[in-house]
Amino acid sequence: MPEISAPSYFLLGLLLVAALASLFRGLRAHRDRIAHGKAFFGPRIDRASVLARINWRAFISRGVFTSRLRQRRWSGIAHGLLFFGALALICGHALFALSFVGVPVYAGWFGYLVMELGREIAGIMVFLGVLFFLLRRFFPPQRLVAGGKRPGFERMEALILLTVVAGYSSESFRLALQPGGGGEFLGTAIAASIRQHLDPDATLLGFKLLWWLHGLLGASFIALIAHTPMSHMLLGPTNSALASRRSGINLAPLDFDAEQDAAGNPVVFGAARLIDLTQKNLLDVSACLWCGRCHEVCPAAQTGKDLSPKKVMATCAEYLAAGRFDDNSLIEVLGRDAIFNCTTCAACVEVCPVSNNPAEVILEFRRHHVMELSDMPDTMAAANRNLESRGHPFVGTAANPDDWRSGLQVPIFEPGTTEYLLWIGCSVRYEPRAQETARAMVRILEAAGLSYGILGESRCTGDPAKMMGNEMQFVETAQENIEEFREIGVQKVITLCAHCFNSFDRYYPELGADWKTIPHSVLIDELIADGRLQIAHKGEETITFHDPCYLARHNGIVDETRRVLSAVGQLIEMPRTREQSFCCGAGGGNYWGGQGGTARIGDVRIQEALDTGADKVATACSFCTLMLTASAGKHSETRKVFDVAELVAERIRIVEG
Ligand code: SF4
Ligand code: SF4
Repeated sequence: MPEISAPSYFLLGLLLVAALASLFRGLRAHRDRIAHGKAFFGPRIDRASVLARINWRAFISRGVFTSRLRQRRWSGIAHGLLFFGALALICGHALFALSFVGVPVYAGWFGYLVMELGREIAGIMVFLGVLFFLLRRFFPPQRLVAGGKRPGFERMEALILLTVVAGYSSESFRLALQPGGGGEFLGTAIAASIRQHLDPDATLLGFKLLWWLHGLLGASFIALIAHTPMSHMLLGPTNSALASRRSGINLAPLDFDAEQDAAGNPVVFGAARLIDLTQKNLLDVSACLWCGRCHEVCPAAQTGKDLSPKKVMATCAEYLAAGRFDDNSLIEVLGRDAIFNCTTCAACVEVCPVSNNPAEVILEFRRHHVMELSDMPDTMAAANRNLESRGHPFVGTAANPDDWRSGLQVPIFEPGTTEYLLWIGCSVRYEPRAQETARAMVRILEAAGLSYGILGESRCTGDPAKMMGNEMQFVETAQENIEEFREIGVQKVITLCAHCFNSFDRYYPELGADWKTIPHSVLIDELIADGRLQIAHKGEETITFHDPCYLARHNGIVDETRRVLSAVGQLIEMPRTREQSFCCGAGGGNYWGGQGGTARIGDVRIQEALDTGADKVATACSFCTLMLTASAGKHSETRKVFDVAELVAERIRIVEG
């Protein structure tokens, strides 16, 4: 190799040390800003408590292998080229450093394959990957623009590009002076041209200048990583490692007895300022790329409503960068409509490449509106008042809660005798269309010979209150239910509504519940598999399935209902399906709100279902049935939407016993 003097290497080494110091200083600044949030790790931050929190699966798949980025073909390929190319180059440079201590890394097949060919290919990968992202800054998709562009990305991408070009140029000048083993094919080709046009002295000078340029650009990049959007390289995988192991939204329980928080400040419910969010929320905000994938899938944003999860995260990021930790103008800047338009569908959570949970951040601001400011949209307020006074949120319903079982012999749950409690839930009790789901489920349970019973009188689970931000009402409702279930010894519960299932399974155990809850679609699947429920004949009709958000995204339940529907008909899929399903619009209390924008969310979803040409649209949640039936009615398709239980009940074979 042409001579690079020892002092030059020493000087470059010093520059790298300074760059690394800048990197660590930047990371410390992130840590200090994030530390303003509420404690995340609990009272003790030791190795055991941190290790216990780590979500290795998310870290490896999303943090290291960037699985969610790969869901978009071109940006996935480009990011893969950039990420793995850069990783290979870092390893290559580390191996090169070993040559200073006498390790013959350039010798033999290893030198040819790894140090020459491997590094050459890695450089090309980085070049192509970063070129894609840089060009896209000039022709951005709508999601990158909507809600604001994160400043600084293009400068850092240009810096990477220049570093790679300088690296190749310096390599070519080096090869012009001293040919390599042939693995550096691009550099060798350029070197031939340099040799023709420059004399050796000029080539040597060019090599030294370009070597320094490459070194300076590389060191500058390292120094700037933590001070620019490139910090996502480190914060993204960290955030994935600390992501909740349970998918969907996990709202932290509130301590209503405490007068002071862990830092000795008066307790504030929900968030109005950054310091009211948790440290994990602030890590989310710091890691956010402003990529807009969440905006692109958000049903509120996509139907023209005043909410963009990206904008919420970006606004918080601006406050964080400016050190406005205690500034309660944040909640006003985010806007009340935006906060209440969220349907809690968790599409933003599912799609985020750095494992952010924008919905949890939004819902903390919603909690503050409701519990500290007594402020919520009128329709939601009416539903809340009804829940407080009458035990369910269906304002002005004319339905008799027992109408659904007229003509049926439905047993009441007998303590010590009955195995399953069939939980009816508020939407089924008070909405005639949803009542048909309960009637169908009773026929199924009777046919399977299951020991089941209902409560004489039941309340709501409290899910609408919780998701509308009224945690106090949720806890009160849940405690009454838990007490009653305990008194009669309930061990197994069947739910007809995905929201009831999620509440019982995710939030009730925090309050002392210890029973097992099973969604009716999952139970039906088990009963068919066991042979306890027999399908008389499979129909020829085509069925498309709308995955309820609270089953698919929140709880990963996607295959069970598909197996059931495939047993009774011909299943065809919508474009957005399984965990990528599009919300019906009911969640987060928007069954009682959800107005405004350019379209109703349910109308968009039913159009997608009708576009499949399926004879029937199936779902597995009573709120989805209600929302989609209402939207189908606008197409004069009132008998188009069915709960999975209805489709099964009409095809079961009754085995005389
Ligand atoms: S929250 Fe996630 S998906 Fe949304 S803009 Fe930030 S990084 Fe992108
Ligand atoms: S949970 Fe759903 S509605 Fe709420 S911000 Fe996320 S994508 Fe939008």
